[in-house]
Amino acid sequence: MSRIVYVNGDYLPEGDAKVSVFDRGFLFADGVYEVTSVLNRKLVDFDGHTARLQRSLDALDIKAPVNRDELLQIHRQLVTRNQIEDGLVYLQITRGPADRDFVYPKDATPSLVIFTQSKPGFADSPQARTGWTIITVEDLRWGRRDIKTTQLLYPSMAKMMAKAAGADDAWLVEQGKITEGTSNNAYIVKNGVIITRELSNDILHGITRAAVLRMAVSAQMRIDERPFTPAEAQAADEAFITSASNFVMPVVEIDGEKIGDGTPGPVARRLREIYIDEGRRTAI
Ligand code: PMP
Repeated sequence: MSRIVYVNGDYLPEGDAKVSVFDRGFLFADGVYEVTSVLNRKLVDFDGHTARLQRSLDALDIKAPVNRDELLQIHRQLVTRNQIEDGLVYLQITRGPADRDFVYPKDATPSLVIFTQSKPGFADSPQARTGWTIITVEDLRWGRRDIKTTQLLYPSMAKMMAKAAGADDAWLVEQGKITEGTSNNAYIVKNGVIITRELSNDILHGITRAAVLRMAVSAQMRIDERPFTPAEAQAADEAFITSASNFVMPVVEIDGEKIGDGTPGPVARRLREIYIDEGRRTAI
């Protein structure tokens, strides 16, 4: 399969889509990214992702190379050209090419790369019916996890540890409390209350998290934003994760311990349904 990829103003066959070896994204992971899901050829929560992108860029003092409307137009072009019915749009902005130096140049020209990934029918993933199994590992990431940087080596290592243990993902633990998953936000449900860590520099401010919590409030569900321990999670009635690429995914086992009866719980199933319905309805 050959995709069309957007690179700094051009739509190119993926084999021709290239950036400089001097790009600071390559040399320093000096860049940020966003992943937006596509359902029925439309973009879910596009404005949420654009707003967070701007916050990440501001935090790193990188100037946005295009505005919101241009970004939307590029996303739509790629969805059309690559015939994405369901899938993802991946966007990356780096500080751009410069001679290697820890001091970054104020006048670098940022690089913008955007590509699609086709995932036919991924909203009906069979995994959502069985749920994920999770292991916990120490959170060894840096301290500004609220900035969505491309510095993803530790999350990738943690995901590999999960795979090696026969699990689907890892939840990261810092000072005895779960921060989040390798690439998702983490939740438990106890006595009808949804518990998830509060926003801070310790976690990424998930766009799906914001939408799901808003929908939970509308559905009269109770929410407690606070850290929780792995032991508390193992004793919970339910657990789940949220992310743009997995929507709401039930978690049925943590460190070998079944959660509830070991099947996806009603709160996770309901929130998944509401989120996907609403996502389809409001996609642009
Ligand atoms: N936390 C981390 C560490 C992530 O990488 C992601 C997804 N990139 C999320 C949470 C979920 O964020 P979103 O709902 O915006 O996809």
